[in-house]
Amino acid sequence: MNPVDFKVRVSVRVRPSGNPDQQVVSSTDSEIKLESPLHAARKQPRKFAFDSVFGPNSTQSEIYDSVGLDLMQHAVQGYNACVFAYGQTGSGKTHTMMGTEDNLGLVPSVFKSLIEFSQKVSGTTAVTVRVSMLEVYNEQVRDLLNPRNKLRLRGTGDDCIVEGLTEVRATLVNEVRSLLETAARNRATASTNANDQSSRSHAVVSLTIKQQKIKNLDTELTQQKVSVVRLVDLAGSERVKASGASGDRLKEGTNINKSLVVLGRVISTLSQLAETPNSRALVPYRESVLTRLLQNSLSGNSRTAMIACVSPDADSYDQTLSTLRYADQAKQI
Ligand code: ADP
Ligand code: MG
Repeated sequence: MNPVDFKVRVSVRVRPSGNPDQQVVSSTDSEIKLESPLHAARKQPRKFAFDSVFGPNSTQSEIYDSVGLDLMQHAVQGYNACVFAYGQTGSGKTHTMMGTEDNLGLVPSVFKSLIEFSQKVSGTTAVTVRVSMLEVYNEQVRDLLNPRNKLRLRGTGDDCIVEGLTEVRATLVNEVRSLLETAARNRATASTNANDQSSRSHAVVSLTIKQQKIKNLDTELTQQKVSVVRLVDLAGSERVKASGASGDRLKEGTNINKSLVVLGRVISTLSQLAETPNSRALVPYRESVLTRLLQNSLSGNSRTAMIACVSPDADSYDQTLSTLRYADQAKQI
């Protein structure tokens, strides 16, 4: 691993408003401004700058062009790539990652471009794309394509392998869409005060690309190149306290927070190492299951992107501020 080259691209996507009269967010292409809804407080608006900011009218293909294409191109060169959607429940994470049938999200559109790539190079290179989907729930890993599978995490140096995970070779976007539907049905959801369908787990989709140059007409295959694109729909970032959780919900919430906190620290430590290579900072991969799993997608040679999803509405002010601070920290040294 060479952390020196680490670069994370941080974007913000503002979802359409649920209440256009009470918006507190405005944005340009690279800046976002958040105004306190409490006029009495006379607080200064807060401004944050990011690599890109997508307003409420942004389209799925704009997100693909800005974030997905770069990850895809990096992956076909043989490197790993990774993208996270971060934000409170209802802020548009799943919409951004999965999308709908006629409005493909990042997972199906990155897959689609990988298949187009494989067709383009089919004369000289054999390319296969395999898909797996898992969730991290309460620091436990579950196979979203086959929840009864027993999974085991095995560390191998810089890597972490999930033994027993279902992997499906796919060639059509529709196959991936139907795998996503299966995964969505199997994904753990539990009721909280914040949102009945609140997603309390991190969903990780992995697209594994295998490339083999075809040497001659006997289709003799040479050395293969393998890379993985991981697309992560993180659990809702809302704080447990605000949802009035207790007991199991509280423990679950603590684990969600832990994963998100560790993820933020992993990314900021990598940024720090890239800035000051002599600092001996340790990257805390092993402090959460999520970051262990993503270790080989979060290092010097891999491309990492974060999309922070926010709502423009006044009643989300606190959560939006907390999301923007998290994203800001990931970006900073
Ligand atoms: P999350 O996964 O963060 O909880 P969702 O992606 O499920 O949030 O979004 C909540 C609702 O808002 C869904 O009905 C979704 O279709 C809608 N939504 C979110 N973002 C957008 C967007 N950019 N454009 C249109 N609808 C959106
Ligand atoms: Mg969701």
